[in-house]
Amino acid sequence: MSAHSLIPTLRLALLDIFVPVACAGCGDSGASPCPRCSALLAHIPAHALSIPDIDAPIFAKSQYKGVTRRLLLAHKDGGRNGLTTPLGLALADAVKQSLTAVVPPPGKLVLVPVPSRSVNIRRRGRFTTGELAHVARKDLPCPAVVESLLRITQPVLDQVGLSRAQRQSNMEFAMTSLPGNADVVIVDDVITSGASVREAYRALTQAGHNVISIAAVCAR
Ligand SMILES: [Zn+2]
Repeated sequence: MSAHSLIPTLRLALLDIFVPVACAGCGDSGASPCPRCSALLAHIPAHALSIPDIDAPIFAKSQYKGVTRRLLLAHKDGGRNGLTTPLGLALADAVKQSLTAVVPPPGKLVLVPVPSRSVNIRRRGRFTTGELAHVARKDLPCPAVVESLLRITQPVLDQVGLSRAQRQSNMEFAMTSLPGNADVVIVDDVITSGASVREAYRALTQAGHNVISIAAVCAR
């Protein structure tokens, strides 16, 4: 982490110490997330999604709305590092659910986070999806490692504000993967149009990997 990127991280850490914490999910003072929002996040059943051109089970823990959306945004752009564990465990639930459809069960998994644009990683000073993946891997029923096999190798626009069709063409052939033949689960924080996970699936499959499932904290 560069000295430049440490500044926002340190500022947020100091804020956590000197300003009373409010729950990022509901605004109540006390812990973040509060017990009610923690329980809500933990007990939502993961749901299945379908994305064209992807021949693998896809599961998300929650809809991208309400408490979960606020928690995710607070972690991603609000620097609320204390949310890494509950959101990582939510991602683990989605991964576990996605694996129930995989026959035979995998022996060892590689969790591959969908990469963020480097401009966003520099701005945040961290790679938040990678952090969630590292929490999730420890909560799985089989051995798993996190490997950042994917790189964004074409210039892409920020997906926010683009239409569904624009997102698809923005991400098309934007990623490359290190080659190999691992049993891979693609993981992401939020699936919106599906353009990013679709491109991740294409790049990993083309590089020789076996994408057995896809999981995210949220989807809309
Ligand atoms: Zn709350």
